[in-house]
Amino acid sequence: MKYMDEFRDGTLAQVIAQKIARAARGQRHYRLMEFCGGHTHAISRYGITDLLPANVNMIHGPGCPVCVLPIGRIDSAIELAARHPVTLCTYADTLRVPASNHLSLMKAKARGADVRMVYSVADALRLAQEHPARDTVFFAIGFETTTPSTALAIRAAEGLRLANFSVFCNHVLTPPAMAEILGPLQAREFDTVRIDGIVGPGHVSCVIGSQPYEFVSEMYRRPVVIAGFEPLDLMQAVLMLVKQLNEGRHQVENEYARAVTRGGNAKAHELVAEVFELRPSFEWRGLGEIPYSAHKLKPKYERYDAEARYGIAYRQAPDNKACECGAILRGTKKPRDCKVFGTVCTPENPLGSCMVSSEGACAAHYAYGRFRERVQDTV
Ligand code: SF4
Repeated sequence: MKYMDEFRDGTLAQVIAQKIARAARGQRHYRLMEFCGGHTHAISRYGITDLLPANVNMIHGPGCPVCVLPIGRIDSAIELAARHPVTLCTYADTLRVPASNHLSLMKAKARGADVRMVYSVADALRLAQEHPARDTVFFAIGFETTTPSTALAIRAAEGLRLANFSVFCNHVLTPPAMAEILGPLQAREFDTVRIDGIVGPGHVSCVIGSQPYEFVSEMYRRPVVIAGFEPLDLMQAVLMLVKQLNEGRHQVENEYARAVTRGGNAKAHELVAEVFELRPSFEWRGLGEIPYSAHKLKPKYERYDAEARYGIAYRQAPDNKACECGAILRGTKKPRDCKVFGTVCTPENPLGSCMVSSEGACAAHYAYGRFRERVQDTV
């Protein structure tokens, strides 16, 4: 298959692995965070860490959109669906994220709330058109990849004069979270999280381009290499990071040049800027409040803003005490450090958000990595 098999060639992977091994200097460690959940999944699926020398370590980042959503936001969605006469639409993974009081959107549905699984915001829009007497709310989550489609739906609702459609907006931004991890978080937790370089997200970068990471790498003096999702993409990105670190450089480089440009998708930028503005602060699971790290609807689109329409007041809620998702999302722990991994917490019965989505570190490790623990990961 063109553009797929070429990036999964085992012989070439071995060649790049040898180059990484030769480039990685024995006396130093290379701690590289893959920011994106899609990369976490691919690294586990293709056993990338097995091909790396012991002193090149991959650290999971907060790039799974379902994982970083704090419990308080799920609680708000449940409250919305349970207390208001609305149809709440969201993606399948979000339905299963554990919330407070042993609830989830799935359990709220079982108790009578009108919660529906959709594949896209377009499905929610269609539902609103088909049932004009009923309010439809789209529970919008995700990084910059999915924000443009939500903006498009809001513009479409306006064009159709749909009065029964709104969005509970939880779209978050990658560069502020990256800056938070490399800056304040590393300063606070230097003993447990030290990151030398970042594998930048692929899908997000298709939309925003590589330029928004330039201030991050410049300010925190860490290299960022944007990568695609195939095994050779990831191996090549690791090699590029190792080389930059050896040469004392901290630049944004683009391994995923077949899809990502410096400027990104101009149409998507325009659309997002038209509909959304930045929230002064937003809570991320594991990372806490991060300034200007999420979107909300602009006042001119307030009639499509479910938070305003239904008076949703945000309340923080603690994670399950047994769950280490917060530490995993900060890069300070790994799934196997959680005492309930694979026993009490499994993909069928997730206790934390990292076990829900296939992009979650715990779910990826459960599916592919739990039988081949590596001594090198303990470094
Ligand atoms: S195994 Fe489950 S409980 Fe433990 S950190 Fe992962 S998601 Fe949380």
